[in-house]
Amino acid sequence: RRCIIMKRLLGILIFITITILSIACGHPDPLTKTAVVMDTVVTLEAVDGEREQAIDEGMAYLQRIDALASQNEGSDLEALRLAAGNGAWVEISPEVFEMLEISQEWAAKTDGAFDVTVGPVVWLWGIGTEYAKVPGEAELAEARSHVGWQKLELDKETTSARLTEPGMRLHLGAIAKGYAIDGLRAIFAKHHVKNGLVSLGGSSIYAFGESPKGKPWRIGIRHPRSEDAKEYLAVAPLSDAALSSSGDYERYFEQDGVRYHHIFNPAIGRPATSGVLGVTVVAQGDHAGTLTDILTTTLFVMGEEKGKAFLENSGIDASALFITQDGSTFHFTAAQSGNAPAMRDVLTDVSQTVEWK
Ligand code: ADP
Ligand code: MG
Repeated sequence: RRCIIMKRLLGILIFITITILSIACGHPDPLTKTAVVMDTVVTLEAVDGEREQAIDEGMAYLQRIDALASQNEGSDLEALRLAAGNGAWVEISPEVFEMLEISQEWAAKTDGAFDVTVGPVVWLWGIGTEYAKVPGEAELAEARSHVGWQKLELDKETTSARLTEPGMRLHLGAIAKGYAIDGLRAIFAKHHVKNGLVSLGGSSIYAFGESPKGKPWRIGIRHPRSEDAKEYLAVAPLSDAALSSSGDYERYFEQDGVRYHHIFNPAIGRPATSGVLGVTVVAQGDHAGTLTDILTTTLFVMGEEKGKAFLENSGIDASALFITQDGSTFHFTAAQSGNAPAMRDVLTDVSQTVEWK
């Protein structure tokens, strides 16, 4: 009898000890919150540190950036649009100013492949909205004539901007989420989150440290022609790095067998037809979110050949994966530049899976 009771007690004691040890030593379950912000499903996940504060502050931050980068009444972008061509400088928030400053730098570097003044064209096509349509030649020419990064002026001293021609407008869709990723990274760091994951709709991601399994986070790269957003072509292992993807599958409509998507070639005012279906970029560092977001859009517009050459000559620390299609077969091509050795492996491993029927 006694022996049985002792055994049971011992069993309970061992169970309690193991539970305490596993909580103290191992990773607890990550804290995860999901919300719809910035027009997409946002997931913030923290494994350690001040998890609750990090996530709540992160969500509040995203809401603020969403409002700042919007075209809503009273927003900076609306004020700039209303003042376009009247010569007046418009004082804008430091965040929007910073996004515009970075955008202008990249517009110059990419010869206008990346250009936030693409707004009139984005509006005219309305891709992703219920009024999406293929515009007529005349209205397209008109909209296109109002595009051009040289016609956006910035004044750092007064954090002001102006659009020099009436009819101009800005769109921050290709940079805002990446910029927000960098802000989230700072917030998580402040709250000592060493392991975690932030994902803005799956297209802009930052992975901190490792997953609760003690391994790099596994990031799925979307199948560009699957209806199911969770069907992956490949999985990239990611640790302390940002990953961004842009593709013609995100927002589009089809007319007469042609797919019209939301990534524009600013020079022609039409969806870029570069032969690329999707681009994924990974990078590390304080501005990796902004960098990867800008690069995916840029490389998509340039296409594989020009994009690879641009990346290789730029010396930027980043690694990219181009997805192209040849009949029913998809091809992956990886390209790297600068000092991104860890990042090189992330995408070269993926690129070795090369084909998918
Ligand atoms: P997503 O927002 O789906 O992740 P992107 O980062 O590629 O995709 O951004 C696409 C958005 O950026 C479009 O909705 C449009 O507003 C804007 N955009 C499209 N083409 C360009 C371009 N060449 N330069 C700058 N912004 C662009
Ligand atoms: Mg982008």
